[in-house]
Amino acid sequence: MGKHYYSLNEYYKQKYNKKIYKLAISGGMTCPNRDGTLGDKGCIFCSKGGSGEFAASASLSIIEQLEQAKNRVKSKTKDNAYIAYFQPFTNTYAEINYLNKIYYEAIEPDFIVGLSIATRPDCLEEDIITLLSEINKIKPVSVELGLQTIHKSTSEYIRRGYSLNIYDEAVKKLRSVGIDIVTHVIIGLPFETEEMMLETVKYVGERTDGIKLQLLHILKDTDLAKEYASGKFETLTLEKYADIICKSIELLPENVVVHRITGDGDKRSLIAPLWSADKKRVLNYINKELDRRNIVQGKKKKTPK
Ligand code: SF4
Repeated sequence: MGKHYYSLNEYYKQKYNKKIYKLAISGGMTCPNRDGTLGDKGCIFCSKGGSGEFAASASLSIIEQLEQAKNRVKSKTKDNAYIAYFQPFTNTYAEINYLNKIYYEAIEPDFIVGLSIATRPDCLEEDIITLLSEINKIKPVSVELGLQTIHKSTSEYIRRGYSLNIYDEAVKKLRSVGIDIVTHVIIGLPFETEEMMLETVKYVGERTDGIKLQLLHILKDTDLAKEYASGKFETLTLEKYADIICKSIELLPENVVVHRITGDGDKRSLIAPLWSADKKRVLNYINKELDRRNIVQGKKKKTPK
């Protein structure tokens, strides 16, 4: 493990012995929370692009998207090893034949060493698990689940559309076929206390292989932006966010890979908190705090009696 936490870079280095980049692509799917099946407004924070603004255009073929995304980052690496990442919307929300086609297309190129799929835990039927398990035998598959919080009141407020036991079941199913699980958690959700946020991190840490800790972003043209404008809640300060991240890292078991410690949203649509637009500064600040507090993942100091 690195100095403070088990980072994604370190995990990739151990697993592939290479520098790996993820290529964000789109399978052109929607989401049951948007197409009227569960709701038509989406999660309260979700942008028009289905939380995947950096993915290539779905009008291109999978291989064209991969080539285009690769061209953007290839000058940064000589290793020529990438993970195909189906990012926007719900990437298991389609007919099994279509999923079969696009997943196999995505793992076809030699430069692709693994497949990553962002989805909802309520969109993982048995046939999809079987398909993912088959692909996992060819190239490693990981599934990213957008849980955000374990708390019922918040999950209802954000209109997530499924309950915690659905996440638990999805984890069980994925684990039973050896697929890596990455869970997305949002820090700073409206009306959550620090204690609630840390409860989510602890709960997820006991179940997941990897975690993405993301700061709540208020983005333009979302219902959350309207709620924020009406003054119902405030966003976190950088100091408070860093404090919660430090405490989260202490709480996480040492074998859980920390994929992210902040968000990476589209700056053009960011309303708040504006400090988060300077990602370098945020990461520096958090790293300094981790140093200052001498924090090591999984080594929560006992409170003296
Ligand atoms: S499940 Fe994902 S894509 Fe669907 S509305 Fe929520 S955040 Fe957006």
